[in-house]
Amino acid sequence: MVGAAGVAVSSTVALTSPAIGQIAPKVVIIGGGAGGATLARRLKVGAPEIDITLIEAAKTYSSPFLSEHFLGGFRSLNSLTHRYDGLAANGITVVHARATGVDTHKRVLTLHDATTLPYDKLVIAPGVDFRFDKIQGYTPDVAHRIPHAWRYGAQNLSLRNQLLDMKDGGTVVMTVPLGVIRGGSAPYTRASLVAHYLKYHKPKSKLILLDSNRDFAQRDVFEEAWKQNYDGILEHHLSTFPGQHTVVRVDANTLELQTHEGERVRADVMSVVPEQRAGLFAHVAGCVDGDWCPVDAATFESRDVKHVHILGDAADLGIMPKTASTANSQAAAVANHLASSLVGKKRFPVRFRNAQWSLIATNNAIKAGATYVLGKGEVVEASHFASGLKEAEAVRARNFQESLNWYDAITRDMFGTV
Ligand SMILES: Cc1cc2nc3c(=O)[nH]c(=O)nc-3n(C[C@H](O)[C@H](O)[C@H](O)COP(=O)(O)OP(=O)(O)OC[C@H]3O[C@@H](n4cnc5c(N)ncnc54)[C@H](O)[C@@H]3O)c2cc1C
Repeated sequence: MVGAAGVAVSSTVALTSPAIGQIAPKVVIIGGGAGGATLARRLKVGAPEIDITLIEAAKTYSSPFLSEHFLGGFRSLNSLTHRYDGLAANGITVVHARATGVDTHKRVLTLHDATTLPYDKLVIAPGVDFRFDKIQGYTPDVAHRIPHAWRYGAQNLSLRNQLLDMKDGGTVVMTVPLGVIRGGSAPYTRASLVAHYLKYHKPKSKLILLDSNRDFAQRDVFEEAWKQNYDGILEHHLSTFPGQHTVVRVDANTLELQTHEGERVRADVMSVVPEQRAGLFAHVAGCVDGDWCPVDAATFESRDVKHVHILGDAADLGIMPKTASTANSQAAAVANHLASSLVGKKRFPVRFRNAQWSLIATNNAIKAGATYVLGKGEVVEASHFASGLKEAEAVRARNFQESLNWYDAITRDMFGTV
């Protein structure tokens, strides 16, 4: 039912029975990132009687969010890397394995070593996958040499080392693809902090940001900051039509790329970010329509596959951007939905939040965000905020401190003890 404020609430809850012979309902979560790890922890807090298994391919999580701080030399990779011990210590079964198959009729998941796991509810939070097929010459192997650095630690380390090794006077080229990608303003934050590194360490160098888009959020605020801080270092090439600067070919030997329009650009250090789509496992599970997974916005259940919920970047939630912040608030909603539908806990109104900070120079961060509610079955914006032009230094410095506090809070929510 939909409440007076247009918010989904349910006064009576139909309990979904666990499979026969099972003591506790079994929830299996694939992906221990901003969506999946938060869900595991929140569900354990809200309904300790549920049997929760988290399947995560990697032993540690190196957050994409704030990775640009590492690239710019503002913090260590170690400080962005988190272990799963806190979740395991609190009774969540953490399995470090890759999920490779699922029988959604029998509700059985298969891991890469052929282990099978039955579930009552499966939650898929695999993040994004990259469209290597759209760029000739770009493969997962080539991405070690030309890192997109849009996912985890190793590629960020490679890109940072390439920047450190580059001669002064070199050219760095970074690209922004067309279409929906994870990270909101991340391409522009990252460009700012790479330009910051060049300014103070390789001042004869320049950064070319080749952008497939014609416009982007908070453009005036970014451009004001770039003019003040990185004039002559950061060249931003926006497209005059969508896709003008889209990369169609790369040559890993010569570090040259070619755009849709036929221009050729050579770099000393190159980072090419491909177009994106829902993480591979969402495709394996049959939950994808186009590039992303349609879900019921109140429960996050897949519109195509029963008893499967999709969370985070992989889910298609219309206007909600693909950020850790939204994944985190989605996880809270899914945890509440599962706790209420599986074991009868109280159901709360669904409300989502995005807040994103962009560091553009030392102690100078801007921010933007919004809250969202459900209106007629889809997500609608309820309020928003954004930094403006010509803000006082103290405001920008406070924004930066907020971003650090946010990082500590979200990673505690993901990996902390219950
Ligand atoms: C450069 C950059 C900067 C960003 N900055 C911000 C920011 O400032 N603020 C913000 O809110 N967001 C930011 N983001 C976006 C944020 O990182 C993502 O939106 C968020 O991580 C999405 O969470 P998720 O759970 O969907 O995916 P992820 O956090 O990527 O987690 C997915 C997990 O699933 C695992 N996995 C995938 N497939 C399988 C499988 N088959 N089996 C087992 N495990 C699997 C992966 O190993 C991974 O750990 C940024 C992103 C980038 C790239």
